[in-house]
Amino acid sequence: MKKIAVLGSTGSIGTQTLEIVRANPDLRVVALAAGSSVEKMEAQVREFHPLIVGMWSEEAAKELRLRLADVDVRVVSGMEGLLEIAVFPQSEVLVTAIVGMIGIRPTIAAIEVGKAIALANKETLVTAGHLIIPLAKKHGVPILPVDSEHSAIFQSLNGEPSGKISRILLTASGGPFRGRTRKELQNVRVEDALKHPNWSMGKKITIDSATMVNKGLEVMEAKWLFGVERSRIQVVVHPQSIIHSMVEYVDGAIIAQLGVPDMKLPIQYALFYPDRRPLAGKRVDFFELGQITFEKPDLEAFPGLALAYRAIDAGGSLPTVYNAANERAVALFLEGKIGFLQIAELIETAMNLHQVIEEPSVEEILQVEAWTDEMIDKEVHQ
Ligand code: NDP
Ligand code: MG
Repeated sequence: MKKIAVLGSTGSIGTQTLEIVRANPDLRVVALAAGSSVEKMEAQVREFHPLIVGMWSEEAAKELRLRLADVDVRVVSGMEGLLEIAVFPQSEVLVTAIVGMIGIRPTIAAIEVGKAIALANKETLVTAGHLIIPLAKKHGVPILPVDSEHSAIFQSLNGEPSGKISRILLTASGGPFRGRTRKELQNVRVEDALKHPNWSMGKKITIDSATMVNKGLEVMEAKWLFGVERSRIQVVVHPQSIIHSMVEYVDGAIIAQLGVPDMKLPIQYALFYPDRRPLAGKRVDFFELGQITFEKPDLEAFPGLALAYRAIDAGGSLPTVYNAANERAVALFLEGKIGFLQIAELIETAMNLHQVIEEPSVEEILQVEAWTDEMIDKEVHQ
């Protein structure tokens, strides 16, 4: 029996994780956490019987306690609650399916007590990778990638020494606006940006895919997970999303992982690694597919990717500014307060104004986040 805790259980990755639990009786959910979705959480508790659940909002936690008065479960709230769930003694694996930098402290706390991490929450690695990767090594804790590209790289690396990697080829669908010019992106609406061609995901990452900031975050994520510098990570636009990423070795051999787009595969692979379990679903039919294609990313129409390269090269706290500015700008875009192109513009403004701190501590990372939020709100409301 493998015991798991899930942060962000009501979201896109969280609910797909629970689908895998449903199909595999040797997985047991011991702890769950979400933001404010009380109704969904109540249903999850009644189905999966965790021992502890957390809601970010105290109000939601109160309501959940009332609804679950007939169930023997502890309900906690806020950051303290998230931390308690992250280190919950009965769990072996923590699935980090929460969205944003809020995941930093719980992820670190879980590593410190030796939990394996199934990592979807890329923002945590982007901003605190320099702390998390050495910490995981020190505690002998595996960080198992859930992000589809990183899972593909992980699967392609299986059994090969990392010293033999020549390049990582990180594939990107290009999102809903692939092929458009910057001018054509000026007036795109929130509804258009939320229509991803291949994947159904949470709102934040769907917008990140439309701006290609998601790919920028993923280059940073790959750098930390696989210890490969940016110059050896190439983004390859591949609109069909069948090749989920590739590794090129020193002899020129390229190993890739292919499959229909379905996040359940990388989630399940992380949960059972190194085992492979059966997974129902569509299979790739190469005759139906006919062809798969490749393009260079358009850094002019999608400056979010170029800004990521700049943030990686400068290092220190600049990736935190890149990420925090994006989180704030995406929230403002979803609220209809700024236009689509302003997302990358605000990231750039924040990066230009920031004084880089080398090797920032968790405290400093969170201070930089607060500075960035404040700066962006001033910029937007002036
Ligand atoms: P969703 O928006 O669908 O879900 C986010 C989850 O986090 C929800 O359960 C939400 O709860 C919870 N949450 C949000 N804020 C808090 C908080 N402060 N405290 C506790 N819980 C909180 O996101 P996704 O599932 O799409 O993405 C999750 C992560 O996985 C992101 O980092 C994303 O980049 C990454 N990822 C996602 C992929 C996908 O296919 N969706 C693919 C690859 C990576 P509530 O419902 O109550 O708001
Ligand atoms: Mg991805």
